[in-house]
Amino acid sequence: MDLELKDKIAVITGGSKGIGEAVARELAREGVHLALCARHKEEVENTARKISEEFGVQALGFACDVSRLEDIEKFVEAVKSTYPEGVDILINNAGTGSAEKIIDAPDSRWQYYWDLHVMAAVRLSRLLAPLMQKRGGGVIINNASICARQPLDYEPIYNVTKAALVMFSKCLANEFITYNIRVNCVSPGLILTPDWYKTANIVGKEKGMTPEEYLENIAKENAPIGRFATPEELAHFMVFLCSPKASYCVGSNYYVDGGWLRVT
Ligand code: NDP
Repeated sequence: MDLELKDKIAVITGGSKGIGEAVARELAREGVHLALCARHKEEVENTARKISEEFGVQALGFACDVSRLEDIEKFVEAVKSTYPEGVDILINNAGTGSAEKIIDAPDSRWQYYWDLHVMAAVRLSRLLAPLMQKRGGGVIINNASICARQPLDYEPIYNVTKAALVMFSKCLANEFITYNIRVNCVSPGLILTPDWYKTANIVGKEKGMTPEEYLENIAKENAPIGRFATPEELAHFMVFLCSPKASYCVGSNYYVDGGWLRVT
């Protein structure tokens, strides 16, 4: 199937590694030009350069902490000067798990995750919509989590802020479809990325397990499929949602979770 994505332009937050990098690579494979951001400058620039060399597309790598409005504004300026013709796709992906108890987590922690998981998507959608309108429309995908619906007990702040992102996606979809911008949300289950290794090191140690034992246990106990997904397995689905072939997909939240969600 021709996904009709050649020479589209995509902005991806958290594009230096994990799911964001996989989506960037799979879009580049279809001929999409990229603007990637992440906090670590050297890493995001390297990822952009490698993808550009491998797939022959243009790729900007830009250091930006999406929890900060000033950084987002600078990133959007860089996107505008790299792609004055506008952009077609925005993937709000940057994010990370948390670990806390509500009883002692300070307000500052709640605020950080709110800015990272919700306000980054609000601000980038608002700032990039005019660049999509220049192209006659576009696509926004927000990467939430199965935890928005089925919480994990060690990360209440993550669960709550991802749930807010799902509702934001629905509201945004209803408003932005009038500009021919299709908004959808994806709620992944277990995707084996560097973020899971970080969690496995912390939570595995508390439970007296090696990171590998912890990860295997998590997959076997939770996902009926019995394993983690690769980032590419999720990326393929997200690339399809970006394509005009998904033209009637608007305002939905898609679970990609190996059967982990226990209720529908
Ligand atoms: P990784 O930790 O592997 O990658 C996260 C990416 O986001 C990196 O590029 C990181 O780069 C960037 N990032 C993190 N914080 C910020 C920030 N403040 N500003 C800009 N960039 C940032 O995570 P995953 O690939 O696993 O996760 C990606 C998204 O998918 C997250 O939103 C996560 O919640 C969601 N998700 C993941 C699941 C999984 O099983 N892996 C399941 C469900 C949802 P840098 O550190 O340089 O900033």
